Amino acid sequence: MSDTSSRVETLSNRHPDAEQVGPHLVIDKSEWVPGKHPEPHHGYEGQTEYLERYLRCIQCGVKVLNTDDLPETCDSEGRR
Ligand SMILES: [Zn+2]
Repeated sequence: MSDTSSRVETLSNRHPDAEQVGPHLVIDKSEWVPGKHPEPHHGYEGQTEYLERYLRCIQCGVKVLNTDDLPETCDSEGRR
């Protein structure tokens, strides 16, 4: 048995739901964050955590709440 099939795994193959936004390739993420929701009308008394939705670029790893907040350039050539 030989495995000659291409093993090239592109980022978009691994993240079929990724969306190209400018130079970035972002995915929707949501995460439970400890504490109260920053917007009071989304919070409630005694709240210990809330679900925060954010966007993450799978190339440069930047995390933003809004596509408007994405940096102009996507530093996918390795971060320092
Ligand atoms: Zn990026």
